[in-house]
Amino acid sequence: MRWSLKLGRFAGIGVYVHWTFFLLLAWIAYVGMAAGENAAAVAMSLIFVLALFACVVLHEFGHALTARRYGCGTRDITLLPIGGVARLERIPEVPMQEFWVAVAGPAVNVVIAAVLFVVVAALGQGFEFTGIMTTGGSFLASLMWVNVALVVFNMLPAFPMDGGRVLRALLATRMSRVEATHIAAGVGQFMAILFGVFGIFSGNWMLLFIAFFVYIGAQAEAQAVEMRSIIRDYRVRDAMIRQFNTLRETDLVADAARESSASHQKDFPVTDGKEIVGLVFYRDVVKALAQGEGNQPVADIMRRDCPSVDEEAPLDRALDKMNAQGCSTLLVERGDELVGMLSEEQLGQWLMLHSSIRKRSSEDLLPAAAHARRPKTPVHS
Ligand SMILES: [Zn+2]
Repeated sequence: MRWSLKLGRFAGIGVYVHWTFFLLLAWIAYVGMAAGENAAAVAMSLIFVLALFACVVLHEFGHALTARRYGCGTRDITLLPIGGVARLERIPEVPMQEFWVAVAGPAVNVVIAAVLFVVVAALGQGFEFTGIMTTGGSFLASLMWVNVALVVFNMLPAFPMDGGRVLRALLATRMSRVEATHIAAGVGQFMAILFGVFGIFSGNWMLLFIAFFVYIGAQAEAQAVEMRSIIRDYRVRDAMIRQFNTLRETDLVADAARESSASHQKDFPVTDGKEIVGLVFYRDVVKALAQGEGNQPVADIMRRDCPSVDEEAPLDRALDKMNAQGCSTLLVERGDELVGMLSEEQLGQWLMLHSSIRKRSSEDLLPAAAHARRPKTPVHS
């Protein structure tokens, strides 16, 4: 995520904190000082929030490390003021695997709460919750209650909360994943409406915000699963483009810009004259031009680590690869030969066409772009 500070790497996963998180800390310090608290009390509130977010990071590691057991990597974990986000490369589609990945996060908070319960009992302290912003009460007991709250909140059966995934996974053991997602998304949206109505009448704007977040999350999840159900029946060659231009590594950024406005192609494979050595992205071209660096060779701004994909590979695996590597375009190969390109943007258009055709007829009218001819040699240079 942009604007994030790297905290470190744990178990091979980078942990970042978004800059807005520091706004939250500043706000808490401000509220404390405005209420006339002394420096020690303000510091205690900040330490409490940091301890809470440490629990959130452990929660995310619960998801990430369980996903790893099923062969799904995690790109990174980022802390935001509203919580943590573990960006999994993909979510396992086997229902019980998804179930365990979703449950593992809240399970971490259950364990933390249980450990704190034992410690608080052993120390003979009270179990009352004294609030996040106040001090003087039991720090550990309050932290325990916050972990309990994290479990309850996350297990609400609504996307994008963990409980939504748990519900979907359980339903998916009895029906198709698409149906299960539709039901789970429907439950989530129903809950979002309840939250929203309750939030408006009680004047609780936080609840209204959460309702909005859940409503959008449910919709996005349903769409994503529907998209997957469409593309999984196709191969990369069905959706790739076959006509494209390439650039030489000595070509300038300005050439790339000119080429893309002349051809509507946005990203370009880059060759050293013989073979492909990288991929230059339109967004990087625009960025370089904005910085007045149109005269540098494209080799300076191209990405060398983008994976290629075989034209016979299933389309949904190609999408996983895009997500895993953060590359919006993939090069498509047949053996060692470059035969096409697949970009997120064009995949979106292809998908729109396919889902509308699907709605109109059960017969597939677009078997593949098999008639389009591909030039034998790259068009450019
Ligand atoms: Zn979670």
